[in-house]
Amino acid sequence: KFMKTSEIRESYLGFFESKGHLRMDSFSLVPKNDKSLLLINAGMAPLKPYFTGVEEPPRRRVTTCQKCIRTGDIENVGKTSRHGTFFEMLGNFSFGDYFKNEIIPWAWEYITGVLQIPKDKLFVTIYLDDDEAYEIWTTKTDMDPNRIFRLGKEDNFWEHGSGPCGPCTEIHYNKAGVTVTTAEEFVKAGDEDKIVEFWNLVFTQFDGDGKGNYERLANPNIDTGMGLERMATIMQGVDNIFEIDIVKDILQGVCGIVGKEYGKDKNTDISLRIITDHVKSVSMMLCDGVQPSNEGRGYVLRRLLRRAARHGRLLGVKDEFLYKVVDFVIDNYGDAYPALHQKADYIKKIVTLEEKRFNETIDSGMDILKEYIEEAVKENKTVLEGEKAFKLYDTYGFPLELTEEILEEKSITVDIEEFNKNMKDQRERARAARGESSYMGADEVPLNKIDASITTKFDGYNNTTLKSNI
Ligand code: ATP
Ligand code: MG
Ligand code: MG
Ligand code: MG
Repeated sequence: KFMKTSEIRESYLGFFESKGHLRMDSFSLVPKNDKSLLLINAGMAPLKPYFTGVEEPPRRRVTTCQKCIRTGDIENVGKTSRHGTFFEMLGNFSFGDYFKNEIIPWAWEYITGVLQIPKDKLFVTIYLDDDEAYEIWTTKTDMDPNRIFRLGKEDNFWEHGSGPCGPCTEIHYNKAGVTVTTAEEFVKAGDEDKIVEFWNLVFTQFDGDGKGNYERLANPNIDTGMGLERMATIMQGVDNIFEIDIVKDILQGVCGIVGKEYGKDKNTDISLRIITDHVKSVSMMLCDGVQPSNEGRGYVLRRLLRRAARHGRLLGVKDEFLYKVVDFVIDNYGDAYPALHQKADYIKKIVTLEEKRFNETIDSGMDILKEYIEEAVKENKTVLEGEKAFKLYDTYGFPLELTEEILEEKSITVDIEEFNKNMKDQRERARAARGESSYMGADEVPLNKIDASITTKFDGYNNTTLKSNI
């Protein structure tokens, strides 16, 4: 049954309203009072105070469609069928109210009853020793027991340091129609994108001490997350999240702007998808008040924008073009997120400024990087001096990750330690020049003078991401 993305969004929220949930708007991508997270990466993330009891929820049952950014997935974007750096997560949450006995049958009712997905296309995974979940799946739904696989902590246990944690059960769709009979075959088909995970149901039932000891919570919680785009690929019978209704129009827009056709060449398609995804993320972040900078979430924004610009170059674009893509994003997402319409001019202005700034140096930077690569190849070196990567960063505005990504194609890595040392030295020089305490205006100075505060490879947010990310 074909369903538009907007219809799926509405249907999910409406279904859980019918089960007593309060529908809440998506929270901002910028976390509030949460230093552990750079950007909201799951439906539960902005609801943490309700889960921990720090705040009283407006109702003990809540349902949302939450905007999410996951930079940890950046390498997958355009290559797998299922990853974007921006996506929307549908979710329903129980704050010490209903538990496994309710959510498993509801989930089954929703996907097989409301959405009418054929049962023989579905698989379920549960945590190794979660016999309770197995019991519910096999007695309270008509899920075929042969289609349930038990997986380990990696996949089916949600844990983040100490505190509330627990097993989860995930629901998957057999996109390629493959035959699998064992857990190993199942995992392999997932890695190959033939079977796609689309819904994670987390049972927060323990209080962990972080050392492997778990105590059962008196009032366990439920936290679920379903990727809206992934569900749309299923309901629209398309191959990947870039081919669903609201995303395909943006992708086609990009094709028109850069003068390329989609579906003719593998690498071109990857670049087209990357541009589509990254401009969407950038637009959403700008709309939520993130500003480009050289640290924190502003750096994420800058990095995504520059990566999109670079892929434009790869496709032969010479001038600024990302702002034109923003129009297609707004056309397709403005109904769901009206603030995009209100801030359209602002978003396009910042995108244009940022791209212009980068374009002024990108060509010279690329030439220099090419020289570095030739040199390294000639000398059989597999590591680029950190000083050189720093020069690209400092003078040409190349995010470290961009340099790394280009080098990776030649199997060359960067001496990160030396890069960081250069960064630190420069920071200290800049600070001394400005007088100790002032950081003000750091963003106003030209790029090559910027007080760059990145000192790590920024896996901060990968590490702080909750284990299952939900
Ligand atoms: P995967 O294994 O495919 O990377 P995940 O296990 O990391 O997904 P969860 O953390 O369980 O994902 O998030 C819940 C749901 O959110 C997933 O089942 C999926 O439908 C959706 N989702 C997660 N990451 C992405 C992404 N990068 N792009 C689109 N949807 C996503
Ligand atoms: Mg993932
Ligand atoms: Mg997964
Ligand atoms: Mg998952």
